[in-house]
Amino acid sequence: MKWNALLDLVFPRACAGCGGRVGDAAGHLCWDCQAQLPFVRQPYCLHCGDPVEGRVDESFTCHWCDELQPAFDYARSVVRYRGPVQRMIQDFKYHAAHWLAPDLMRLLHAGLQTMPEFGSLDAIACVPLHRVRQRTRGYNQAALLAHSLAREVQKPFLRRALMRHRPTGTQTHLTARERVANVHGAFAVRRPEVVQGRAVLLVDDVMTTGATLSECARVLKAAGATRVCALTVARG
Ligand SMILES: [Zn+2]
Ligand SMILES: [Zn+2]
Repeated sequence: MKWNALLDLVFPRACAGCGGRVGDAAGHLCWDCQAQLPFVRQPYCLHCGDPVEGRVDESFTCHWCDELQPAFDYARSVVRYRGPVQRMIQDFKYHAAHWLAPDLMRLLHAGLQTMPEFGSLDAIACVPLHRVRQRTRGYNQAALLAHSLAREVQKPFLRRALMRHRPTGTQTHLTARERVANVHGAFAVRRPEVVQGRAVLLVDDVMTTGATLSECARVLKAAGATRVCALTVARG
């Protein structure tokens, strides 16, 4: 903290959420933006973690999960994809704001600690980019997050366990069903020996319908993973 305070005198940290001064808060979000973080709270779908309005019973699963049966055991997100976190993730993902990785990792870590349904996990993997996308962007934001979470929880990071062997394009305008078809067969497990018999945590920045995470989970399980849970910083 002392070192931060000293650095702030010379290079004041700007809040990644509102652009104001971070002040004495740790990381890159001011206290006001931290206080407004839209954490995902129950009720949500037991399977995919999608928040729902109103009262539901504890075993509620959403229409999408009932219909499409995602391959992950559980998927959960820490915050809703809006406000300061949305700006942070966009800067991190599209503008190479790598210094935001620890802030986003801390959210993942805090979330993970409140998710007993995940059980004990053996290794951490991430949603891979297609090599062309990876080359243009220069980095995979999900890999940076997964790697730093793996260090934090002292689990092996399976950097190259999964690969995306065909680009899937933007899925923004696709329905849930179209997304499932779009990502089907797009991923492969490159090193089955590192996932066999292991419970794997799959990490990504944002989850929308979960089609991509489900497809990754499907191939991981086909390669011998015993359980696959998915954790994302935000839920779109
Ligand atoms: Zn702020
Ligand atoms: Zn669901």
